[in-house]
Amino acid sequence: MSAGTLNISEIFHSIQGESSFSGWPCAFIRLAGCGHGCFGCDTVYAERDGVTLEVGEIMQQVLAFRAPFIEVTGGEPLLQPAVHTLLRQLCDLDQKVLLETGGFLSVEGVDCRVHKIIDLKPPSSGVCDQNNPENIELALAAELPLRSAFEFKMVLAGRDDYEWATSLLDEYRLTDSFTIMMGVAFGKLDPAELAEWMLRDRLRARMQLQLHKYIWDPAMRGV
Ligand code: SF4
Repeated sequence: MSAGTLNISEIFHSIQGESSFSGWPCAFIRLAGCGHGCFGCDTVYAERDGVTLEVGEIMQQVLAFRAPFIEVTGGEPLLQPAVHTLLRQLCDLDQKVLLETGGFLSVEGVDCRVHKIIDLKPPSSGVCDQNNPENIELALAAELPLRSAFEFKMVLAGRDDYEWATSLLDEYRLTDSFTIMMGVAFGKLDPAELAEWMLRDRLRARMQLQLHKYIWDPAMRGV
């Protein structure tokens, strides 16, 4: 692949389902490839080869949706160096750009205009020990207003995950500075149970559901 091309799994128009932007119409660019191997990954199909497209062609397709937000996701989008060209060029066109990353690679070098949604993978993911601590450090080191371009997302499958999450939030005092989106792995943890824990603990985090999985068939692609 040349420096100006990306391996793309799909480009589609949907409702943003998992972040503080949940509910907004959004155009998505899903990059192919990840290899992180989280248990319960809901985009395993993005592991397979996608199609190679020039950055210009990708921009043309995604801009055609005229969506208020454009999200670059995966797979793991940060595995492909040309993603930085894509992100920068979208920002140069004054697009509101979101990047969703699995959190095992550093977001250093991502254009500061991009809103970064960073996963913190809990124990049930099987890859909890691979959360990249640099991302928390970079976020904490950022001055305002750049700090507000970071948010963290935790998708929990049970009580052990919740206890891990609250202890991480305490350790770095993340809720003092960032939006923390806390949700349930679809079908694995009852949302009412998570809500009860969050309320009981007076947790300063936002609860979320994977909205697209309630609107459409949870196994559906391209949403
Ligand atoms: S980081 Fe995301 S895309 Fe990669 S395996 Fe984990 S859940 Fe799937």
